[in-house]
Amino acid sequence: MKFGGTSVGDATCIGRVVQIVKDASRESSVVIVVSAMSGVTNRLIEAAGRAEAGERDSFNAIFADLRAQHEAALVRLIQDPQRRNQIGSCLDKIFDEGKRLCEGTALLRELTPRTLDLISSLGERLSAPLVAGALAEAGVRGEPVEATELIVTDSCHGGADPLMDRTRRRSEARLRPLLDQGVVPVVTGFIGSTEDGALTTLGRGGSDYSATILGAVLNADEIIIWTDVDGVLTADPRLVPDARTIPEISYREASELAYFGAKVLHPKTLHAVAEAGIPVWIRNSFAPERIGTKITPKGRSNGGGVKALTAIRDVVLITVGGPGIVGVPDVVGRTFATTAEVRANVLLISQSSSQNDICFIVSASDAKRTVDALRKEFAQDVAHEKVEHITVHSGIAIVAVVGENMRGAPGLAGRTFNALGRDNVNIIAIAQGSSESNISFVVSEHDVKAALAATHREFALGVRVAQHSNVMGS
Ligand code: ASP
Ligand code: MG
Repeated sequence: MKFGGTSVGDATCIGRVVQIVKDASRESSVVIVVSAMSGVTNRLIEAAGRAEAGERDSFNAIFADLRAQHEAALVRLIQDPQRRNQIGSCLDKIFDEGKRLCEGTALLRELTPRTLDLISSLGERLSAPLVAGALAEAGVRGEPVEATELIVTDSCHGGADPLMDRTRRRSEARLRPLLDQGVVPVVTGFIGSTEDGALTTLGRGGSDYSATILGAVLNADEIIIWTDVDGVLTADPRLVPDARTIPEISYREASELAYFGAKVLHPKTLHAVAEAGIPVWIRNSFAPERIGTKITPKGRSNGGGVKALTAIRDVVLITVGGPGIVGVPDVVGRTFATTAEVRANVLLISQSSSQNDICFIVSASDAKRTVDALRKEFAQDVAHEKVEHITVHSGIAIVAVVGENMRGAPGLAGRTFNALGRDNVNIIAIAQGSSESNISFVVSEHDVKAALAATHREFALGVRVAQHSNVMGS
C-alpha cells in the first residue's frame, strides 16, 4: 500500500491511514510505502535552490516551517512519551542533516544532482517514522525502513531506475522476516540507492514507482495506491462535471493517461509490474469505502472503444517550417537531435506528408531553451531561406482520447472530430500513434473545456457501463 502526500498530509490524514492499514493487516501481510507530507518535497527543493544562491536565512526559514509542521503532527499522533521522544529525536537528526547539506551547498554555491537528491528525499525520511509511530500507537507493529536499504538503482540522480534482481534480494532479506513476524514495514517512497550506497531518487511523484517496484520483487497479490481521488476518472472532474471513476483499465490505458497528465500515476509506475501482471489499485484514502480503479494487464471493455480523456496544459507548440524543408532529409533529424540535446520532453509530434512543416509540443518550461537551441541549429538554413520560420504558439493544450480497444475500431476518429466540429472547437494539430490507443489533438487553451465536454458526451463516458452497452445496442 502506498500513501501519497495528501494521504499523509497532517495528523488527521495519517489517522485515516492508520485505520486503513490496521484493517488490512488483520487479513494479510502489508508493506507500506509513504510519500512526504504534501508540499514538503517542493519546499525542500526550494530550500536547496536558496542554499545554492547562498540565501541562508531563506533555507533556515523553510526548515523552521517544516519542523513546525512535522512536530505538530508528532504531538497529535504520538501520546506515549517514550515513543514521542524517540521519534522526535529521529526527526531532529534528519533536520540537522538537511541543514548541514544546505550549509554545504551555500558554502560551495553549487547544487549537484546528488546533493539535490539528498535534500529532496528528506520529506519521506521524516514521514515514515511518523506513520510507523502512529501505527504503533494504534497497536499495529509498524517499523520504519529506509528504501536505501531495499531499492538498488542506477546512478541517474533525479530519475533513477531500479536494478530489479538486486532489489529483490535485498528486499526479501530485509522485509520478509518482518512480514513473517507480523510487522508492517513502513518504507520511504521516492528513494533508492546505488550499489555504492549513494542515495538516489526515482523522479518527482516517484513513490508510486517505489510501491510497484517493491510489490513486484515481493510478489505481492496486489498493490494499492492510496491517493486523494477516487481512482482513474473518465476526465478531470473540475472540467467535466459528470466525469466518473473507471472500474477497470489496462496497464496500457493507465500509462497513456499517466503520460498525458491525468496526474494519477508516475509514468514509470507500471513498468515494474508489467512482467508479473500484478493488479494495481488506485483508491481514495479519504473515502476508503469506494472501490476505486483496478489496473490490470488487459483491463475490461466498457462496450465502446474510448475509456477516458485527458488534457495537458502549460505546453507550447513549436513549428519548424517553410517550403525549403520539403525533401531536405535531415531537418527532422536535426530538430529532434536539438530537443534531445536540451533535454526537452517532446509530448506530441505531427508532420504532414507535404513536409511543409514539422510541429511538436513541449512543456512551457522547456520552451525557451528549445527554441533558442533550434534557432541556433537552423541559423544557416534560415539565412539561406531553406527553413522559413521557427515559431512558438502558446496558449494551447493537448487533449487526448484514450482507450485500448480503439485499435481497429473504425469511426472513432470521425466521431471525435465530428463532435468537436459540432461544438465549434477548432483543431490546431492532430496525432495518433500506430498503437491506436490514443488520439491526440491540439486546441486553443480556451477550447479545452468545450473539447472535453464534446468528446465526453460523444462517447457517453459519463453514463454507467450497463446503460452504455444498452445504448450501443450490443
Ligand atoms: N515526495 C515526492 C514528490 O513530491 C515523491 C512522491 O510524492 O511520490 O515528488
Ligand atoms: Mg506525491
